[in-house]
Amino acid sequence: MRAFAFPERTHEEHPRIRKPCEDITLEFWHCLLFAAPVFFGSMNVFVTGGAGYIGSVCVEELLNSGHKVTVFDNLTEGHRSAVDSRTTFIQGELSDEAGIKRAVREAKPEAIIHFAANALVGESMTNPGKYFRNNVASGLNLLEAAVENGAKKFVFSSTCATYGPPDRVPMTEDLPQRPINPYGESKLMFEKMLLWYQQIYKLEFVAFRYFNAAGASEQFGEHHRIETHLIPNVLKVPLGQATQCEIYGTDYPTPDGTCIRDYIHVVDLSAAHILALAPGKQGFFNLGNGDGYSVREVIKTCEAVTGTKIPVIEQPRRPGDPPKLVAAADKAKNELGWKPKFPKLQQIVETAWNWHKKHPKGYA
Ligand code: UDP
Repeated sequence: MRAFAFPERTHEEHPRIRKPCEDITLEFWHCLLFAAPVFFGSMNVFVTGGAGYIGSVCVEELLNSGHKVTVFDNLTEGHRSAVDSRTTFIQGELSDEAGIKRAVREAKPEAIIHFAANALVGESMTNPGKYFRNNVASGLNLLEAAVENGAKKFVFSSTCATYGPPDRVPMTEDLPQRPINPYGESKLMFEKMLLWYQQIYKLEFVAFRYFNAAGASEQFGEHHRIETHLIPNVLKVPLGQATQCEIYGTDYPTPDGTCIRDYIHVVDLSAAHILALAPGKQGFFNLGNGDGYSVREVIKTCEAVTGTKIPVIEQPRRPGDPPKLVAAADKAKNELGWKPKFPKLQQIVETAWNWHKKHPKGYA
């Protein structure tokens, strides 16, 4: 495993460490410079992973809200045609420290939204190194680039997988974080780095702990080259691309024996990121609807929306899956003014189904 050392830095080397004599006037002008684009409705935002599922929808929402967007993506998981044509697109690797620093230096963003990551619980249980390398070590290059180039806000895609099996649901942000898979652990490690960078460099951050993102906008939807997620896998049956779907585990301590998750519409998720850009907003926020649906209930909803009977095969549990994850998102509602537009599973599945019907091969 690679070790990272943080050299001691002085204010001469590092633009974000202030000289003791630096006066308040400078800080005032900095604030004004940062606040102006927000008040006038336009910020310069650098988005990693903007070609991926959640990133592509968030980029669309950012542009629709009047922001200027640069997308940085290696296109391993993402798709070039999922990148809104109004952006500046850079294909690059976060692991390339010089490359990411150059990209941030040239874009000069006021805010960075960091979606790029590996995000599969099951894969992280068989290839943990991929998760620690890409989500932690490569992410650190971006964090350093943010600080070195004076970005004022860092918005991070974290996950409810940082909690592990919760002591109680709905889950509030103050629950202990005890991840049971390397994916959750890697995101928790990044959350902790954010706290240190906030303390040491005054980098303002918002970390969203996503519950289960689902659904689609009119234009952009969910297409993973290898699909492991429940809703797109189930919808393969009515699309005529599979004859049955699989249920991973029917012996969980839940009413019907299958795992319970809180599904949140990708457009609602994106809206929270835009609210997070406002100066002064910071901290950790859960994003979910507060309703838990079992795997069997999701399949039933897909049947109702598509008007198709969906045969199932019951499989053993998937390693790393907690039985029940349901959000309390009051903090995001109260502090960010976040209000989901598509809170019901039926609405979420309907938008996913509409997108898949129009794009049966996804972005291929
Ligand atoms: N799941 C399933 N069949 C599938 C895909 C997922 O039973 O084809 C289950 C999975 O074990 C979990 C839930 O559905 O309990 C949601 O899984 P998903 O991969 O969509 O999201 P995750 O909760 O892992 O982020």
